[in-house]
Amino acid sequence: MHPMVKPALRRAWRERQTVQFGVTPAHAVMVGPVDTATGALLELLDGTRGLPLLREEARAIGLPDGQADALVKRLTSAGLLDDPTAGGPAADALRARTGALDRLRPDMASLSVVHPEPGGAAARMAARRAMRVQVRGAGRVGATIAAVLSASGVGRVEVLDGGCTEPWDVAPGGLPPEAVGERRDTAARQLVRRRAPDRPPRAAESAAGSGTGEPGLSLVVAAPRDGLEAYAPDPAAAEGWIATGTPHLYAGVVEATGLVGPLVLPGGTACAGCLELGRADRDPGRARLLAQWRSGRRRNAVPACDVALATAVAGLTAAHALSFLDGELPASTGARWEASLPLLEWRSESVTPHLDCVCSASGKSEREHTSGFHPLHETMAG
Ligand SMILES: [Zn+2]
Repeated sequence: MHPMVKPALRRAWRERQTVQFGVTPAHAVMVGPVDTATGALLELLDGTRGLPLLREEARAIGLPDGQADALVKRLTSAGLLDDPTAGGPAADALRARTGALDRLRPDMASLSVVHPEPGGAAARMAARRAMRVQVRGAGRVGATIAAVLSASGVGRVEVLDGGCTEPWDVAPGGLPPEAVGERRDTAARQLVRRRAPDRPPRAAESAAGSGTGEPGLSLVVAAPRDGLEAYAPDPAAAEGWIATGTPHLYAGVVEATGLVGPLVLPGGTACAGCLELGRADRDPGRARLLAQWRSGRRRNAVPACDVALATAVAGLTAAHALSFLDGELPASTGARWEASLPLLEWRSESVTPHLDCVCSASGKSEREHTSGFHPLHETMAG
């Protein structure tokens, strides 16, 4: 072990004997009392020394035996220590790819803030590389989500869409102006490759542990060009994901409203069917409206989509997706976040499992709702 106080957290003394790591309340930790000699020892925890050397240096500055170990233990349990040698073989392989690592350095620093254990950031970043995510839709929202996931180190990002890129599909984080006229799926594939910090993993590498050529889907992001399909998703379109237990996350912009969620863990949290049945319970006119919204041929073929809102929705959606891939249950799990122009206040609405839905999410305990879905645990164990 080479203990290193996480450099991502700013360190400041509150008063003479209390040190605060981190700025924001979400992740700040206070440690005290810390005497002057221990404070000096803190400075030595920069990842360049192993424990034997640290013990020696502690003795040299007059600290009693056991003090170095005690400090390391204390900081580890406070989630403040990283270890540039920890995280397992996949993390070591990641460290060897220095070009990619430089690109991902801020992301790794962020992961180190979020995940307390030493080596946690490197292990998660390495796990991302082995994951396969599918984005449905290559419009302003979908293509940007795919680009961001790729730039975040997700090894396999596939984008599915039909037709050719239109001028209004272009967005600063998504498809470039040069892609206009090209097939959307081809243009999106190229975008994903360009945004990746590294060459894509080989099939054998990304399927490590699964024993097959292609890893299973960790997540599907449904980000249709017509945001209505995310706002009121058709349960029939999700049948395959429900049947195979594939986690999926909805996102889009409809008219002047952006939405992120719900993240559906099939059979665990509310799905598109639950959403539709719940709405119909509360609004007797809903079914008629839905039928017209879905069947009505659009006279104006270009749906409204503010590019700034689309970019915000895409960024937030990618962050929710990454949080899930990294082993957490983000706030979109069984809930939808929405913001409407012009005030853009984010609000959330929980989507509850419906008794009559075929997905059978209704009637489960909280733990049953969400356990067993994380692709991370398989990947990190493998
Ligand atoms: Zn359902």
